[in-house]
Amino acid sequence: MATIDQTVEDRWNAAHAATLAGDEVALLVYRSNLLGGDLRITNFAGGNTSAKAMMRDPVTGEPVDVLWVKGSGGDIGTLTKDGLAQLRMDRLSALRTRYRGPADEDSMVAFYDHCLFHPKSRAPSIDTPLHALLPARHVDHLHPDAVIAIAAANDGEAMTREIYGGEVGWLGWIRPGFELATKIAALAAADPRLVGVMLGGHGIISWADTSEACYRRSVGLINRAVKFLAARAGRAAFGGPAIESAPEAAERRRIAAAVMPALRGLASRQTRKVGCFVESEQILAFAGSKDGARLSAIGTSCPDHFLRTKITPLLLPADTPRDAGALADFVRPLFDGYAAGHAAYYKAHAQADSPPMRDPQPVVMLWPGIGMFTFAKDAATARIAGEYFTNAVNVMEGAERLGGYKGLPPADAFGIEYWALEEAKLKRQPPERALARRTALVSGAASGIGLAIARRFLAEGAAVALLDVDAAKLADAVRDLAKRHGTDNVRAFTADLRDAKAVEAAVEEASLAFGGLDLLVNNAGLSIAGDVDAFAIEQFDLMHDVMTRGSLLLSQAFVRQLKRQSLGGDILYIASKNAIVAGPSNVAYGSVKAAQAHQARLLAAELGRFGIRVNTINPDAVIRGSGIWAAGWAADRARAHGVALEALPQHYAQRTLLAVEVLPEDIADAAFCFVGGALSKTTGAMLPVDGGIAAAFPR
Ligand SMILES: [Zn+2]
Repeated sequence: MATIDQTVEDRWNAAHAATLAGDEVALLVYRSNLLGGDLRITNFAGGNTSAKAMMRDPVTGEPVDVLWVKGSGGDIGTLTKDGLAQLRMDRLSALRTRYRGPADEDSMVAFYDHCLFHPKSRAPSIDTPLHALLPARHVDHLHPDAVIAIAAANDGEAMTREIYGGEVGWLGWIRPGFELATKIAALAAADPRLVGVMLGGHGIISWADTSEACYRRSVGLINRAVKFLAARAGRAAFGGPAIESAPEAAERRRIAAAVMPALRGLASRQTRKVGCFVESEQILAFAGSKDGARLSAIGTSCPDHFLRTKITPLLLPADTPRDAGALADFVRPLFDGYAAGHAAYYKAHAQADSPPMRDPQPVVMLWPGIGMFTFAKDAATARIAGEYFTNAVNVMEGAERLGGYKGLPPADAFGIEYWALEEAKLKRQPPERALARRTALVSGAASGIGLAIARRFLAEGAAVALLDVDAAKLADAVRDLAKRHGTDNVRAFTADLRDAKAVEAAVEEASLAFGGLDLLVNNAGLSIAGDVDAFAIEQFDLMHDVMTRGSLLLSQAFVRQLKRQSLGGDILYIASKNAIVAGPSNVAYGSVKAAQAHQARLLAAELGRFGIRVNTINPDAVIRGSGIWAAGWAADRARAHGVALEALPQHYAQRTLLAVEVLPEDIADAAFCFVGGALSKTTGAMLPVDGGIAAAFPR
């Protein structure tokens, strides 16, 4: 059953709320988090909540009425006090006299900054006047799927009356801003029975005297819509299935993994993007339904939805080839057609002062029987676009059940999508980091050099898949990285590099997690030393299997993905000083590293024409944090050199020309240099990061 039919639970915890009593701002944050924690109540970053609270003017000590309202770009589910804009009510009320009509709309926004109570307040959003002009002390503006289904239905106004009697008013579509706020306030003033207003094609706004009452009112209004929708159940969702059968889940994922890099390549023709794959029941039902094509063509209606998803998805035909090569040729004209359609829409509606056309490629791709692919500037934005489209599908399902879904007229939709204020919001975003929009796979990433590289790439804006054979250590590393860089950007995969199938599967899964891959770091390794006559040949085999053969397996699987994607890419080999320098009792490790170094050059020679660069870093004596050294090697070496274990790093440092210790972060810096843009015309190169060892100079 679709989520739209489910009653939203009342999760207000009186005991917890009692601990916040008297603090209206803390109660507002609590209420907001409860509401935003359920995507059926409001989509991510959608809707806003407010409370008006008496504060003390820090200068005069006088009481002052302050509006606390979700600031620009925030999300009520994760809102904290810092995410609230704080504005003086006396100043906001004075704005009414400045506003003369819709032509003033855009210029009103500049005044909000002049109403701030605290100079360091979060920037106020364009929805601020919705809250300011209503006299109620607590206001919620939400985008619940069940409510928007009614707001976006052909008979929305009549149904609003039927569901809510005279308690909830109706306003036809008006874009968010001051005009909408004055209309809502006028409705509320004219009819004291009103506790809320339905906003056509958009959502709902409701109010109450306390945070608790406001929460209960919002939940209650949503549940009345849910109940109304449930009573109309019966008709098959989306007109019933149009395709006979869909592949099983495992097969769907296999197909998705095979083709997603090709889709990413097409979606990234103008700007590179990161992807997300969704195969929920609701999306599969919609994509594979009889009405799917008609509803997709109408597109989403809630303004928050299509800012994230574009108005329409690209619906692939059910018989789209499931082979990556054939798919790209089949789908390319569909992408071209979509982009041309967006360009025509832009041309038809753009005004002289409209912002320039944005990337016209589709954000959402639906494939009947397989699932939904979304592409955006980063992994979180791609996931959220998928969530928004799921909200839109829920809305369409509900509205269709109520007799017919209607979208926004394209001119109104354009007015929102290319609104100067939205463009300003986009321009306010911080500049993208060096590895933004790129995705990396790092082997041996649970510790040492691999972990340092993963951390560095994440800090530079990449999404990173960490691969390791040690699942427990990997889980610790990933938990730590995800805390800092977000769970969307950090994924963990385990594989034994000796197992070709496992390696292939890990690369495919990593590629599916991000829509494709751009960077591979062949870092995993182990080291066992011994005199040639005493050395067990099984140990020699093990090291060659894991490193010489294992890195080749990873490169092979990675290159397959890259060729489907046609966006070029980078492979880094973390070799060693020992690739060049011969020393005693090191025949296995030294020959492995020499083989890897030459493997890199061979691949560089072969892959340049695909825009794939292959470079090598030769570290030496990286002791701290290294798995190799932890496994007894360091103790052995310390004994062999006659120094204490703690003195080993210093001992190695003294052997270098620069007399410095080499750390995992130094190797990560070098890895970033190769892929961060400064060396984009270099391939087949070898860079020592060893403190300076004359015998290890590449030549
Ligand atoms: Zn809204």
